[in-house]
Amino acid sequence: MESLAKHYGNLKAVDDLTLDIEENEVFGLLGSNGAGKTTTIHMLATLLKPTSGTAIVNGYDIVRQPAKVRSSIGIVFQAPSSDDILTGYENLYIHSLLYSVPRSIRKKRIEEVLELVGLLDRKNDRVRTYSGGMRRRLEIARGLLHKPRVMFLDEPTLGLDPASRETMWQYVRRLVNEEKVTVILTTHYMEEADKLCNRIGIIDKGKIVALDTPAKLKAGLGGDVIKIKTKIKDADAVARKLSFVKKAEFVDGVLMLQVHNAKRDLPILLQSIEAEQAEFSSPTLNDVFIHLTGRNIREHAEDEFMKRYAKYD
Ligand code: ATP
Repeated sequence: MESLAKHYGNLKAVDDLTLDIEENEVFGLLGSNGAGKTTTIHMLATLLKPTSGTAIVNGYDIVRQPAKVRSSIGIVFQAPSSDDILTGYENLYIHSLLYSVPRSIRKKRIEEVLELVGLLDRKNDRVRTYSGGMRRRLEIARGLLHKPRVMFLDEPTLGLDPASRETMWQYVRRLVNEEKVTVILTTHYMEEADKLCNRIGIIDKGKIVALDTPAKLKAGLGGDVIKIKTKIKDADAVARKLSFVKKAEFVDGVLMLQVHNAKRDLPILLQSIEAEQAEFSSPTLNDVFIHLTGRNIREHAEDEFMKRYAKYD
């Protein structure tokens, strides 16, 4: 991406993004609601025209060669888009016609991708009998039919239960290893980004505010994080009072303190401020996110999802 931007009036939904995503990596775009993730993916997938700047996908320019870009990519949208009165096989068959998958290899390719996502034995069942996770896997299979080089997964596990989410991760890893595709995914789930992505770009208000491997992002915070429930209201006063506190802020009513060594610092802290509850841990990706954006990432993503797509249940 080279200075890729999308403006809606005064709103900079995507604000001059410049970054490289490597071949065959799983790249995670992480951000809270409205950060600009979907807009970025839609521009890369040629569904939206950039206001300015451009990007090269599989060697093709998204502005000047959109048809070539489209034949290089597969995309799984946030909203379910398979036809639930058709079987899994029939859904893929229609898609193979739309994507001109040659007749001679059509059946073999459909079975190959169904096998890859673990749905071969359900191929003749109607999609309405599939679980949410199975549906999402079918959509991944559909996105893979024409052997794309790049797969875009927009919130691939939103609304899925933890077990289906882990199954989904296994299939994403499989498609990276076996089909050698590059995966670009958006997610709200820190654990998902941590476990699945080689690198993560944290996006806030249309800008990339951090870009690195999950391990390096966490190590970058240094030290530990102490979380305290307290009646104290002034985070800055705590930081001023205790020199070992590197940063103090309230997130969702909890006082979060970055310190060098929580085991050593917590007892001293508890002597100076009154706490109802206290805990500490090594930094998680969520702590990195809070540090960079001042917000918790879990902004009711699932509630919204359930409201938007309740009719599919
Ligand atoms: P979510 O996690 O909720 O899907 P996101 O990070 O994908 O959020 P985007 O959908 O890319 O966010 O939206 C980025 C910003 O652009 C938001 O403020 C959104 O309201 C705004 N936006 C998106 N599409 C339009 C549009 N067609 N017209 C005006 N504003 C838009």
